[in-house]
Amino acid sequence: MKTAIITGISGQDGPYLAKLLLDHEYRVVGTVRSYRCANAHNFKYLGIEDDIILEELDLLDMANVIRIIQKYNPDEIYNLAAQSSVGLSFEQPLGTFSFNTTSVHNLLESIRLFSSHTKLYQASSSEMYGRAHTMPITLETPMHPISPYGVSKMASYFMVTTYRESYNLFVCNGVLFNHESFLRSNNFFIKKVIRDALAIKNKRLDRLIVGNLDVKRDFGYAPKYVEAMWKILQSPFADDFIICSGKSVLLRDIVEYIFDKLKIDKKMILEDPNLFRPNEIEEIYGDNAKAKKNLAWNYDYSFFDVLDLLIEEEIVNG
Ligand code: NAP
Repeated sequence: MKTAIITGISGQDGPYLAKLLLDHEYRVVGTVRSYRCANAHNFKYLGIEDDIILEELDLLDMANVIRIIQKYNPDEIYNLAAQSSVGLSFEQPLGTFSFNTTSVHNLLESIRLFSSHTKLYQASSSEMYGRAHTMPITLETPMHPISPYGVSKMASYFMVTTYRESYNLFVCNGVLFNHESFLRSNNFFIKKVIRDALAIKNKRLDRLIVGNLDVKRDFGYAPKYVEAMWKILQSPFADDFIICSGKSVLLRDIVEYIFDKLKIDKKMILEDPNLFRPNEIEEIYGDNAKAKKNLAWNYDYSFFDVLDLLIEEEIVNG
């Protein structure tokens, strides 16, 4: 039986990844900053709460990281823990940068010193490319992050490639574009719009307040994207991959689609300039050809089909 550690397991991606690994008969150890704050609802929602081993771990404390690695001797580590909000990273730039880079350093160094057979998946992000001049984004596109979050993910991306090339470790980056699911936290755009639209429909809210809607993003479906994370570590060679849908969608079209589907008057949508970010990527979409070819990862959802699934799930379980 293989053992995998998933850091940040109680976020959006962790529970879906844990379920996939359990289906492949892994022993799954999930780490959280504290038992008290871990989002147990997400485990219960997927029915995996009794099947994972939960550990408290402070990824900023390297002795703590070494202790967990020595205790479980993992075949694979999926590093999902991060301050993952772009918006919040403008409020907490140093906290975001410090956590998102030091945690990756501590994992890499612990693997190098004590567990060189352990494979590492690092959750990298399309935000590293920021203001790119050419689309679609490939691994050859020059990085130009425009948020503290993007900067932190770029630094950790290159720590991973540096450790791979210097010490011959099986450590990989999955460069994921935005992906959504029912388990997304309420402060992220798609989840917020769906929840607020349902609240308006049910007369619990009088309007949807959003930031800039004239930007385009490449959105996908989280349960499919975690399959790619797993496949990256099953690949014969350590490598980096872009995981995306390959198409960009205008945020305004997403909001209007949700309002039309729920038959809500679009006059209830309010764009508040106070919510605009100091710096915003106008359009971004990626090229998933390498993942499709080398990982046999299939993705053919339209994001509007994903929205239908998410709205339905929110109506039934939200
Ligand atoms: P998420 O829901 O925000 O979960 C990340 C987890 O990291 C949280 O549940 C939290 O777990 C831990 N965490 C958050 N802030 C932290 C901090 N300041 N210090 C320590 N731990 C912290 O993220 P996700 O959507 O599952 O994404 C997983 C990973 O993929 C993240 O690294 C994210 O940056 C990256 N990524 C996500 C997307 C996306 O669209 N979802 C796209 C590209 C990359 P505890 O508090 O329980 O410890």
